[in-house]
Amino acid sequence: MLKLENINSHYGQIHALKGISLEVEQGSICCLIGANGAGKSTTLMAISGIQPLTSGKILFEGQPINKQSPDKIVRNGIIQVPEGRRIFPFLTVQENLMIGAYSNTNKMEVTRTADKYYEIFPILKERAAQMGGTLSGGEQQMLAIARALMGSPRLLLLDEPSLGLAPIIVESIMGIIRQIRDDGVTILLVEQNAQAALELADYGYVVETGEVVLEDEGKKLLTNPKVKEAYLG
Ligand code: ATP
Repeated sequence: MLKLENINSHYGQIHALKGISLEVEQGSICCLIGANGAGKSTTLMAISGIQPLTSGKILFEGQPINKQSPDKIVRNGIIQVPEGRRIFPFLTVQENLMIGAYSNTNKMEVTRTADKYYEIFPILKERAAQMGGTLSGGEQQMLAIARALMGSPRLLLLDEPSLGLAPIIVESIMGIIRQIRDDGVTILLVEQNAQAALELADYGYVVETGEVVLEDEGKKLLTNPKVKEAYLG
């Protein structure tokens, strides 16, 4: 579904992505794991069209998208949930959700989609009239994911959904991600929590200083001695 071919990207003099190549199969959960500063977020930003490439190609369903604008990429079906959630704290949960569907002018469809996600995230329904900023970290993460799903993505990019959350909440978020995949949305997940990500992912890539250094099925990476030593403690 998605193919990155030898992509390079720079922030001024900093060579953040040094020839990253990877593939995400339709209907799968694919993860990128790696330490702070490895280039995981930059990779997602490049796919979303926010971070320009200095060379290389990004293909979505066979079509090059690396010269497309971010809004076109969203309309094509790729939506990113940013690191740190970035929900709107002074808008209600309901208003935050509606912003995710801003490009859809069919109100009936938007209401149906919201109802669907209120079923998957019942806590958001309970909190619909509450300000986004008053939600707990886990609830804000659920809101950020639900907001992205309101745009009906075919490929969802998730940047560190487990960040700052207690283990039991991480478990519940990972369960929701699996449910979203089972519902037909392909997922590219970036995580520093390698254990949680690899338990969930069909396939995984290990990124170090802007390069892919290892790739395999998620379960195989979990037992890989190099991954165990560097990322699983
Ligand atoms: P983290 O998990 O900490 O977010 P990451 O793997 O997502 O790490 P990136 O955020 O993609 O890593 O960063 C890759 C490299 O690019 C790092 O060296 C980082 O310092 C640098 N970098 C990221 N954003 C910028 C920016 N806006 N300006 C300059 N350098 C940046």
